[in-house]
Amino acid sequence: MTTTMPTITASSSSQQTIEQFRQYVIGNYTRYPVCLVRGEGSIVWDAEGNRYLDFFPGWGCGLIGHCPPRVVEAVREQVGQLIHVPNTWYTEPQGQLAQALSERTTFQGKCFFCNSGTEANEAAIKLARLYGQGRYKIVTMHHSFHGRTMGSLSATAQPKYHAGMGPMLPGFTYVPHGDLDAVAQRIDSETCAIMVEPIQGEGGVRLPPAGYLEGLRELCDRHGLLLILDEVQTGMGRTGKWYAHQHWNITPDIVTLAKAVAGGVALGGLIARPQVADYLKPGTHAATFGGNPIACRAALATIETIEQEGLLERATLIGERFRARLEALKERCSLIEQIRILGAMIGVQLTIEGAPIVQKCLERGLLINCTHQTVLRFLPALNLTDEQIDEGCDILDEVMLAHAG
Ligand SMILES: *Cc1c(COP(=O)(O)O)cnc(C)c1O
Repeated sequence: MTTTMPTITASSSSQQTIEQFRQYVIGNYTRYPVCLVRGEGSIVWDAEGNRYLDFFPGWGCGLIGHCPPRVVEAVREQVGQLIHVPNTWYTEPQGQLAQALSERTTFQGKCFFCNSGTEANEAAIKLARLYGQGRYKIVTMHHSFHGRTMGSLSATAQPKYHAGMGPMLPGFTYVPHGDLDAVAQRIDSETCAIMVEPIQGEGGVRLPPAGYLEGLRELCDRHGLLLILDEVQTGMGRTGKWYAHQHWNITPDIVTLAKAVAGGVALGGLIARPQVADYLKPGTHAATFGGNPIACRAALATIETIEQEGLLERATLIGERFRARLEALKERCSLIEQIRILGAMIGVQLTIEGAPIVQKCLERGLLINCTHQTVLRFLPALNLTDEQIDEGCDILDEVMLAHAG
């Protein structure tokens, strides 16, 4: 058999790439028929040179935009120095990142690193069971999303993601989101933890009802359970604070992170209270690529960017500007039922399916997302400008008003 060089030249057209995918890439994603080749800040370009304004960069991973300069520089430098060594050695970037993440919590946590959100939650589940010393049950919430590997999938209380994959990992108990009594009723002598997203992301940008997270903390204290917060989508400044739970007066036992942590480079991890963290002893858990120098340098550069450019404050301002624009649109457009925003985490509850709106925005050069069928979701970069917010909202206004007829 003859082999040819793989085509990775920038000159392939979108159509050529799509054909290549059709033959060689498993079709487990629904993809738009567009091949993106370059990004800068909140703008991306396709293989034909078309420009798109991106309100959903990297599915939440592009917290500081595409190709953020400090991250690009840090990765370039690190890649020529040391790409990867296993966790049988100490490396400087991993230690520095652990300290940086811990210092931004209120609980002086210790870190474990992996490569994705689902892996971070797997680690949290294992840690909770180790801590439980025989207690193994974890309470999670309807419409939660914790990832696609079997443990995190079992924690995800959405039947549509379980279909055909059973049996799930035993020990997960699902309750309605926001219902403290339901949680209390399901706790028994075998329960070791409660796991929740401070704001449900994939579930439709759902904020916790008043007193909910505090109530979960109280239940954990009363029953000796761990409170695990999945901050894979909400963490790293997305909501205007380093960790979304800092908007409420609670201290978690474990926080999981991924998506935005390393400015678009793959990195996941968890931060645990030291007394809990100590249960993860040698031999209990590992990730070969976890905490590698490139990803950790990228994360450190992300933190530096957020701090030097005042992006936590900017997240709040972005939320306010979107709120003003979207509330004004809601006045004129009956298809909008509710607007849910915390910082740069934005959900627009529609009365209709959102997919056609996403499609029409794409045709006009605006990238947005729809989750839970009827919720438009934007997770914009924190350095999105006011002009870009207006440019995108103008497009959305026109698309929504035209669709309402
Ligand atoms: C995206 C997401 C995950 C899964 O992260 P992956 O990196 O895709 O494994 C888990 N939890 C939440 C809250 C997420 O938004």
